[in-house]
Amino acid sequence: MSALTTELPLLREAEAATRTVAKVVVMAPMPEPLDYLIPDTLHLERGNHVLVPLGHARVRGVVVGFDTRTDENLKLKAVLHRLDDPSVPEAALDFWLWAAGWTLTPPGVFLNGCLRALRVARGQVRQGYVATGQTPQRMTRARERVIETAVLPMGLSDLAMAAAVSTGVVTALEKEGVLEKVDLPAADDYRAPDPDFAPATLNPGQAAAHILLRNEAAKDTFAPVLLDGVTGSGKTEVYLESVADILRERPESQVLILLPEIALTQAVLGRLKARFGVEVAQWHANISNGSRRRIWEGVAAGRIRLVVGARSALFLPFPKLGLIVIDEEHDSSYKQEEGVRYHARDLAVFRARQDGAVIIMASATPSLETLTNAEKGRYAWVRLGERHGTAQLPDIALIDMKAHPPDKGLWLSDPLVGEILDTLQRREQVMLFLNRRGYAPLVLCKACGEKLSAPNTDSWLVEHRASGRLVCHLTGFSMKKPAACPHCGAKDGLTSIGPGVERILEEVEQRFPGVRAEVFSSDTAPDALTSASLIRRIEDGEVDIVIATQAAAKGHNFPNLTLVGIVDADLGLKGGDLRAAERTFQLLAQATGRAGRKVKPGRAVIQTYTPEHPVMQALQHQDREAFYAYESMSREIAKFPPFGRLGAVILQGRDQNQLNRFAHELTLVIPNSPGIDVYGPADAPLALVRGQWRKRFLVRADRNRDLQGFLAHWLTSVKRPSAIRQIVDIDPYNFL
Ligand code: ADP
Repeated sequence: MSALTTELPLLREAEAATRTVAKVVVMAPMPEPLDYLIPDTLHLERGNHVLVPLGHARVRGVVVGFDTRTDENLKLKAVLHRLDDPSVPEAALDFWLWAAGWTLTPPGVFLNGCLRALRVARGQVRQGYVATGQTPQRMTRARERVIETAVLPMGLSDLAMAAAVSTGVVTALEKEGVLEKVDLPAADDYRAPDPDFAPATLNPGQAAAHILLRNEAAKDTFAPVLLDGVTGSGKTEVYLESVADILRERPESQVLILLPEIALTQAVLGRLKARFGVEVAQWHANISNGSRRRIWEGVAAGRIRLVVGARSALFLPFPKLGLIVIDEEHDSSYKQEEGVRYHARDLAVFRARQDGAVIIMASATPSLETLTNAEKGRYAWVRLGERHGTAQLPDIALIDMKAHPPDKGLWLSDPLVGEILDTLQRREQVMLFLNRRGYAPLVLCKACGEKLSAPNTDSWLVEHRASGRLVCHLTGFSMKKPAACPHCGAKDGLTSIGPGVERILEEVEQRFPGVRAEVFSSDTAPDALTSASLIRRIEDGEVDIVIATQAAAKGHNFPNLTLVGIVDADLGLKGGDLRAAERTFQLLAQATGRAGRKVKPGRAVIQTYTPEHPVMQALQHQDREAFYAYESMSREIAKFPPFGRLGAVILQGRDQNQLNRFAHELTLVIPNSPGIDVYGPADAPLALVRGQWRKRFLVRADRNRDLQGFLAHWLTSVKRPSAIRQIVDIDPYNFL
């Protein structure tokens, strides 16, 4: 009895001193979550959004956990209040926090990016347009498309995009009473996709691949798969069936299809709609703020079960993913190169592991990373052998430019010109591929030798004749092309050096008078709308010769396109980039794969000064394995990815002396760690950008070493002057 009475007051004391605190990631560059007291009136859960005091400011934050604290004089500030934004689901929060650590980004900075969609207010009732059944006084093809598309109510920009018209066409039809304005029911925006709407009839090879994918899904655990097949073999067709399987059989799971940004076209969206019977939620740079918020909330609530998007869609708040598809998994646009640097494919593999999901990586030219994982048995490897139906892979010929040099100022060799003429005579289409925007990559003054570059930047200005401007593709700087050299003042001395697509257009128009030629690049097709209408015109046979950058290298099936000419195959091999050969191979294999996608046989002609190069040989003989074997061997010798890991540290500052001093200080404290080598500091190839000097370190680690841990330890061991910016790039793809 006495024992009890003495114990009671003690217990109370302990109770009084124990407080639960919320761990909050605040939207600021703090290395760790901060602790805040929880007012008695507030019930908080992990994933809640809160407003908290920070210094003299009030900032947003997300509750990431709880802790109990017993110090009696706890001098913590308290959470101010809970915000009513939808909570971040557990799995999404875990993933974001992990990804922040992986990319060495302060968690608040990382989460801030993931929550950007919530920054816009919830939309008022949105209005859209629907067809009334009236016919317009004047019918055009564009108007016809709008009327066909507006059977269900659609928002203005969505409708214009889907019908490949300007918004003016839509509003004009409304004025005539052919369309009427109606409220868009918010909940109806993304109707549930129907897995049984229009199942594909797979050919035997595709059906076998589909069964293998089903077997992987049946394991009900993390299952990474390489879906490997030549362009046109039906990879999309097959993975859409896997998407349907998950939608049908796992009602609690969601599906994400990731595509390279430029492949997110009306054609792909149209295919999804045809397969699943609804407009699928799409997430990319050009969607409206309103759609952004609706999709974010719909995904967090589990209402939206299927999303197709570019790389950042990976950070939508999915409570549970059952399947992630990464189409064209080798595409370098999955690597984000600005702000937080991450590789969406690598992070997606982690997310799939976390959720016990299937991840399908599809490609005709897989990355060496993924291929090596498949070869070592870490990923399942599902192959699709042939093109669907009667379509054949194109014949590929190399043209040795040393033997067939074009005249000065021209870029197409006689053999290629002959092939183009033959193709035009058969009334078939030609694509000339040159991965270089604009007219000329360099403008030089003949009088003084000056190469025009952007102010305080090491990068040349590219001449764009269509717009009459000189543009820096690195910084975005542009100026009207001057009449005289800005350096020496000489008039008429500025000469354009080398070709871009606009210059090839000029040559084509000169050599083939009357031919209908057009450039397809991010300049002529900067958004989904213009690219959709250009694609339609090509499909409708309104263009004879398409002069294309990588913006058109993939994704499209132009049935009448039977000749692809690669203008300068050596272009991508220049520069000391680790993946230069791999990327050239992939890009050219994709580009040559554009020919003969349907019934007509295709042909590809590659102009090169290095026909003996393993890339060119592999392309000519369509011997992918030989190329990968060569590439894999050279990487293995250097212990470079995928046989080792890389991280880059880029330092930037206006004061070159201070930058050099700090880089030197960092060199002195490089930790000694077996299996990890640090190279540098070296001047970055672009050593001056917008007045900022740049230095780089490259860190190579054996596969089993903790690269991030090493970097975190090293980079925090000296104090960095605030005028110097530091960028960490895990697994860099860009060596500028
Ligand atoms: P990939 O993704 O491998 O490039 P796609 O799935 O885009 O190949 O298929 C190439 C073309 O062949 C597309 O036009 C597609 O609709 C068609 N196709 C492929 N498989 C089938 C099939 N089983 N039935 C009908 N059409 C198919």
